[in-house]
Amino acid sequence: MEPLKIAIQKSGRLSEKSQELIAECDIKIIQGKRKLVGYSDDYPIEVLFLRDDDIPQYVADGVADIGIVGENEVLEKDKNVEIVKRLGFSKCRLSLAIPQDINYSGTEWFNGKRIATSYPHILQKYLDEQGVKATIEEISGSVEIAPGIGLAEGIFDIVSSGGTLVSNRLKEVEVVIKSEAVIVSNTTLSKEKKALLEGLLYRMHTVQQSNGNKYILLNAPNEKLEEIIEILPGMKSPTVLPLYEKGWSSIHSVVHEKEFWTIHEKLKNLGAEGILVIPIEKMIM
Ligand code: ATP
Ligand code: ZN
Repeated sequence: MEPLKIAIQKSGRLSEKSQELIAECDIKIIQGKRKLVGYSDDYPIEVLFLRDDDIPQYVADGVADIGIVGENEVLEKDKNVEIVKRLGFSKCRLSLAIPQDINYSGTEWFNGKRIATSYPHILQKYLDEQGVKATIEEISGSVEIAPGIGLAEGIFDIVSSGGTLVSNRLKEVEVVIKSEAVIVSNTTLSKEKKALLEGLLYRMHTVQQSNGNKYILLNAPNEKLEEIIEILPGMKSPTVLPLYEKGWSSIHSVVHEKEFWTIHEKLKNLGAEGILVIPIEKMIM
């Protein structure tokens, strides 16, 4: 069977998470000699290690069938690819920023100004929408130093915490897009490849569903069973098993870690004992 070719970033902010995601699907990647291509014995898959900027193009051209890339790159490159899954990591935003001491009035401030960016396409589209006429200075890196060296009055760049802006005495004035890692797909996959993609997405889905969910076991006095079950959500309904000691049962269920501390308090008040919380690797609903 022809493998599904998946492009991921070779090295950078996306590469570790991308490899982790594949590994969590129980697919072990064996890197080839030249380290540009990897394959697996666990799934018909071939991994191409590329620069993130090149991924939309390669997927559009069919060199790769799918790719893991930042939505920002997808929007900037504007190639014919389809976003088939949002992955929830590498979250960032693309924003306009200007020197801190400037009194900002609104997007019209940018009229006649120069804006430095590595994302000219997204920026131009935004400026057109806003009816702003500015000059775009395209540079490939260190965009944040542009105002300081007199290259531009403002910048349009990736922001996550905002720390880089502050250390360059800049302030964020407009958030233009929000981005996260996504899976993009070629739009003309064969039936076989589509099936492989579906299989892979299903595996990812089961991993993601388990994220944050914990398996909980506890001992409960029988007279409090009803009340305890009431506060335990579970997948369908909790499992209840009799304990050897009369009048007691063991309850098994699934809780989200966010709810755990609230639930835990109530459980103890109802007389629950021996509460165990165990990680869940995968969940199939
Ligand atoms: P390459 O050498 O592959 O071209 P790069 O330097 O262009 O790498 P990275 O800095 O590794 O790219 O960023 C890759 C992607 O990670 C970005 O396109 C964006 O989607 C996301 N990203 C970038 N900066 C941040 C950040 N500070 N926080 C969260 N995600 C980010
Ligand atoms: Zn890049």
